[in-house]
Amino acid sequence: MLTHRVNTGFFGAVVLLLAIRSFIEPLPWWVFLLPLALWLIIAAIGSGLVQSGYHIKTLNKNLRPTGKQIALTFDDGPTPHTEKVLDVLARYNIRATFFCIGSQIEIYPHIFKRLINEGHVVGNHTYSHSSKLGFFSKQKIAAEVGSTDALIEKHTLKKPLLFRPPFGVTTPNLASVLQQAGHYVIGWNIRSLDAVIEDETKIYNRIKSRLSPGSIILLHDTSQKTVHVLEQLLVLLQEQNYEAVTVNQLLNIPAYEE
Ligand SMILES: [Zn+2]
Repeated sequence: MLTHRVNTGFFGAVVLLLAIRSFIEPLPWWVFLLPLALWLIIAAIGSGLVQSGYHIKTLNKNLRPTGKQIALTFDDGPTPHTEKVLDVLARYNIRATFFCIGSQIEIYPHIFKRLINEGHVVGNHTYSHSSKLGFFSKQKIAAEVGSTDALIEKHTLKKPLLFRPPFGVTTPNLASVLQQAGHYVIGWNIRSLDAVIEDETKIYNRIKSRLSPGSIILLHDTSQKTVHVLEQLLVLLQEQNYEAVTVNQLLNIPAYEE
């Protein structure tokens, strides 16, 4: 696996060798720019792809599934749409995993309470879900993660261990905070794009064509559209004998600190 350390070490060594070489014979300035540009491109791709494990190990599916299990995950709640998602899940007697935003838990504590009471698992999705999280200091990220852990713990009475990075973006600062806090970083292997695509059929077909045992499906409990897609998806899972479980069950890891 290509990690940030390997990338930086390799291109750092290349630049050093070029610098030594330039003492013997002067080199044009762009020779130094090339490894720097390559380093930057690799770092940008690695930071943006949660599956890359570039900054920190991420769990994106069960690679050795023993049965036809998958995990449904919902990000960015709780919101008023979460209640409709919960109604659908209850009808099929299915438990899912919700990666909640701290500030949303403060706005909708009763919906969050319902989530817990109905046996669903919750994970940390930062306090503000800021698009600038990639530029936050370590202290600021620690506050984002820590305050959301505390909000979850207030209701579950246990410290949550599951974390999902907003937008799937990871950075050295985030990796360091999560490692210290002992969180599992949960990604996905099926991105529904339900927050981007408008057409419900397209979203449904996207998930259907990618479905395989061990999958982690990324959805958002933030729109009516997703509620409709979920209804269709649960029929499909039933028809194809899939069992939907919580992400910690799928990956055989604890969801909370014991
Ligand atoms: Zn999110």
